[in-house]
Amino acid sequence: MSFQDLGLSDAVVHGVQRMGYVDPSPIQLQAIPVILSGKDLIASAQTGTGKTAAFGLPILSKLDSPQEFPRCLILEPTRELAMQVETAFRDFSRFMHLEIALLFGGVGYGKQKDTLLKGCDVVAATPGRLLDHIEQRTINLSKLEILVLDEVDRMLDMGFLPDVRRIVEKCPKERQTLLFSATVPEEIGRLASWCLRDPEKIEI
Ligand code: AMP
Repeated sequence: MSFQDLGLSDAVVHGVQRMGYVDPSPIQLQAIPVILSGKDLIASAQTGTGKTAAFGLPILSKLDSPQEFPRCLILEPTRELAMQVETAFRDFSRFMHLEIALLFGGVGYGKQKDTLLKGCDVVAATPGRLLDHIEQRTINLSKLEILVLDEVDRMLDMGFLPDVRRIVEKCPKERQTLLFSATVPEEIGRLASWCLRDPEKIEI
């Protein structure tokens, strides 16, 4: 099956072709139809399986026109992972006109606030800095439609789960939630049953 057969938008298929991807990987074949259908998802998959495109492509297919407030939030445990996701989303959406914001700590607020003020469609963020923006009311999550919790096992290891829960509480209840974790120990299982609604399960 090709990327086109999976029901992705023309612009996204075009972006994927430009990146040189020919065949969808196993996680992409499984996750893309689920995410396009609007269902919640819990997937155990490692980095290197094509996980970023597995959620990036269907999410971008749903975000056709630019809006003022973010419709998709992706939480990552580290600055490096947040940067990788932002770069991948920019590449996938090369033929769209979306704004993608990158928020992480250890740097000034000025540029991040400017980006949020100008309006953005997708936000890739680490939990601490995102909470700062929420507290300072420099981000408006009221129009959020899709929440991605990525690398949740690493979030657990780094002690971020309380921050993640605080962020989930600030998101609209009516939303699609996607959770990715290499392993699903009990604590992540509890988080999943708290923040996912009747999720599809994928194991790669
Ligand atoms: P990820 O697991 O998302 O970190 O992706 C691992 C690497 O595989 C990245 O360098 C991607 O650009 C690449 N990749 C992802 N999906 C595909 C695909 N369907 N065909 C070729 N390369 C891919």
